[in-house]
Amino acid sequence: MSAIKFSVTSKSGKARTGLLTTPHGKVRTPAFIPVGTQATVKTVDPDDLKTLGAEIVLANTYHLYLRPGTALIKKTGGLHNFMNWDGPILTDSGGFQVFSLGWGLEHGVSKISNIFPDEDEVDRRTQKPRLMKVDEEGVTFASHLDGTKHRLTAEVSIKAQQDLGADIILAFDECTSPLHDEEYTREALARSHAWAARSKKAWTNRKQQALFGIVQGGAYQSLREESAQFINDLDVPGYAIGGSLGKTKKDMHQILGWVNPLLDSNKPRHLLGIGEVEDIFNGVARGVDLFDCAAPTRMARNGTVLIRPESGGDLKNRFRLNVAAAKFKNDMKPIDASCDCVACQNYSRAYLRHLFAAHEPLGPRLATIHNLRFMMKLMEEVREAISTGNLSRLAKRWGVGLQ
Ligand SMILES: [Zn+2]
Repeated sequence: MSAIKFSVTSKSGKARTGLLTTPHGKVRTPAFIPVGTQATVKTVDPDDLKTLGAEIVLANTYHLYLRPGTALIKKTGGLHNFMNWDGPILTDSGGFQVFSLGWGLEHGVSKISNIFPDEDEVDRRTQKPRLMKVDEEGVTFASHLDGTKHRLTAEVSIKAQQDLGADIILAFDECTSPLHDEEYTREALARSHAWAARSKKAWTNRKQQALFGIVQGGAYQSLREESAQFINDLDVPGYAIGGSLGKTKKDMHQILGWVNPLLDSNKPRHLLGIGEVEDIFNGVARGVDLFDCAAPTRMARNGTVLIRPESGGDLKNRFRLNVAAAKFKNDMKPIDASCDCVACQNYSRAYLRHLFAAHEPLGPRLATIHNLRFMMKLMEEVREAISTGNLSRLAKRWGVGLQ
């Protein structure tokens, strides 16, 4: 008896729509998962999320483990109760933060946003977790909050995620950087596989939580295939695809092409940390069911809003518009006239621009609401297009080529 049930409801090529049933409700897939790192999707509350059409949120174990502590959250009745979100939740293992930021530091990469585009919650200038030691058992690191020493292993991560009580939890893995060579990536993969098996062993409340295994292997075909096979054979309720996805979008699409055919098609597949329009289309076309990405909410807080093709969004501007820019000072149009969100229905670009210029918190909040609604609406259209066999047509309307 698994905590989740996944049924494919329609198929078009490799793309599919599905229904993911969890102990806290249903998720229609393909779905975009808003990122609520610190048990909150910044600037919005659970009612906002429901109004936007969000059906599931993600929270980061690393951050909650360090503050306020997963044991405390357990005491309050678990993460659903603590953050007042009664829908499905997914937590990650904590490994991503420790490794991605740690590697960035170790490799002397000061700005690692290009490598790990979705890690936004730790201030890179002042607050890096320091990776101290990786060994066969786990990883020792220093907290970005106060420098205290911590040790994360498969058992610690699963225990923390069981304390949080999310519907879907992730196996503990080593996230390698694109700067790692094949030899190192192979060694790391062996550790990740051993940790995946240990995560499965430590995962005891199987009726309440579903464990997803994570496919690693960097941009190396043989390693990705080996990993997909291993994670598939581990026989867990779902899969995530993580780690370095190469240097270009083409690399990423290629990796999905290697991995997905080796994973049981009756189980959900989550592409970790990815969520640009182009990636959504190309991901679903290769059988991805779940996406998460901090970019839409992070950008919103800086005044960058997402716009649909009807409002001038295209691949060249990455469907982005900086509404905080001075040129919108007198623009009385909404952010996007084709959007049904509360920001577009009630406010002008000029007002948004003013809020950002005046550092008013309503600016980030309205922009966040808009960007999340943009993602939710895109996913609704993608699901509709898959079920009617029109995915390529929809992608074309968005100017996206399905390579
Ligand atoms: Zn809007």
